[in-house]
Amino acid sequence: MKRQLKTMQALPPLALATRIQRLKALARAIRHHQQQVAEAINRDFSHRSTEESLLAEIMVCLEEIKHTQRHLKQWVRSRRWHADWKFFPSKCAITPQPKGVVGIMAPWNYPFNLVMEPLVAAIAAGNRVMVKPSEITGHTAALIKTMLAEVFADDEVHVVLGDATVANAFSALPLDHILFTGSTQVGKIIMRNASDNLTPVTLELGGKSPVLIDHKYPIKRAAKAIAQGKWFNAGQTCLAPDYVLIDAARMEALVEAISQVTTASYPNPADNRDYSCVVNPHHHQRLQQLLDGIPNEQIHHLGTVTEGQKMAPTLVLNPPLDHPIMRQEIFGPILPIITCEGLAEQLAFINQRDRPLTLYLFSNRQAVIKQVRDQTHSGSLTVNETLVQFAQQGLPFGGIGASGMGSYHGYQGFLAMSHMKSTYYQSRLNLNGLVRAPYTRLKQSFIQLLNR
Ligand code: NAD
Repeated sequence: MKRQLKTMQALPPLALATRIQRLKALARAIRHHQQQVAEAINRDFSHRSTEESLLAEIMVCLEEIKHTQRHLKQWVRSRRWHADWKFFPSKCAITPQPKGVVGIMAPWNYPFNLVMEPLVAAIAAGNRVMVKPSEITGHTAALIKTMLAEVFADDEVHVVLGDATVANAFSALPLDHILFTGSTQVGKIIMRNASDNLTPVTLELGGKSPVLIDHKYPIKRAAKAIAQGKWFNAGQTCLAPDYVLIDAARMEALVEAISQVTTASYPNPADNRDYSCVVNPHHHQRLQQLLDGIPNEQIHHLGTVTEGQKMAPTLVLNPPLDHPIMRQEIFGPILPIITCEGLAEQLAFINQRDRPLTLYLFSNRQAVIKQVRDQTHSGSLTVNETLVQFAQQGLPFGGIGASGMGSYHGYQGFLAMSHMKSTYYQSRLNLNGLVRAPYTRLKQSFIQLLNR
């Protein structure tokens, strides 16, 4: 890996024409391989809904490439910056410059998308890239390696396969930037490793994304959006609603409404081709253990699954707040619903915990929306829907605090992967001597004049 990085760092950045050509070729390859991608993910997960893969792994990436192609010529332009009047007639400029070699580290839950979207940003900005896909989704990782070799020369994009030990060594390389997507726990290791080389990092992490429902909002509409966002990919989405806060008086109605939508969308989850599996037995067991110690009457399974790697959509009513289910990111098809009275108490509940990747609010009242937006910290705020914020072209995506650092997508991704180099051009007429030593009486008076 080290030798590969040295070779790549010695080469010039990608010219604009090369970037545009490679992005076009990447889009063609993604279109060409889309069924294979869905099939590889399906094998990795034991079962992953094909439509979920086509939407979340393929469509979103193709849209990101289109958006980037549309705007890239404008993004790469050098911008004039006016020099301060005291330096007239000098000029300044800000020029985006590729950082060099970017390392992309991806998780398993959207194993294709979370390699491709950062890759698009890195290539658009002119970088060479080393990619480390997740070892948990091995079929997809192997396909990514083959596919990227069809589009890029090995010294433009190089894919490294391997387990956590390889990933650890990867993050300790003297890369020029790392974009890591994964858990908060591993994100800390990545940042520690990167700090030895002073490698800048973008950390796209996870956490517990809460849902708030205004007491005036129609409960069925909220339930539909929550259920469909939560059970997509069987809850294995960084942005999935993690838990819901609701007034006690509306708890029963919410449970009833979520149950109805769920059984209509995913009847018989055990055999339902639209309902995805939990990625592997380890995570299946982890999720089962998250229910340990919670009395049966507080657990509502919305369907029956008796074997294999699927887990039925499950509601958990009012679990103890110190139980692991309320301390860890769930990352699976379990949704705690917690009674919490009134907006002030709900905001306090959220503000006492780690800053989430996203906050979902169901409300039609502008004053409530403004209050929640201004009085909470989260990577993003999504009003009256779930998950779709990820698919908005050019809308920065990223967390804050425990849910991440920095953001990408669209221009924000281009900026994250570029160094904004400032340049100062001194004019021939140079009056700077007026403020340089030796400080004669005249110069002293001039400096005093400037500071008035
Ligand atoms: P993970 O942190 O276990 O793994 C992510 C990457 O880190 C993998 O490539 C893996 O090889 C590597 N890795 C694992 N252990 C390592 C170690 N000790 N040292 C160095 N590298 C190591 O995450 P995961 O289980 O693959 O993914 C789930 C997590 O990712 C969830 O927390 C989820 O919320 C988060 N996530 C965040 C986003 C986002 O955009 N913010 C998107 C998807 C997933």
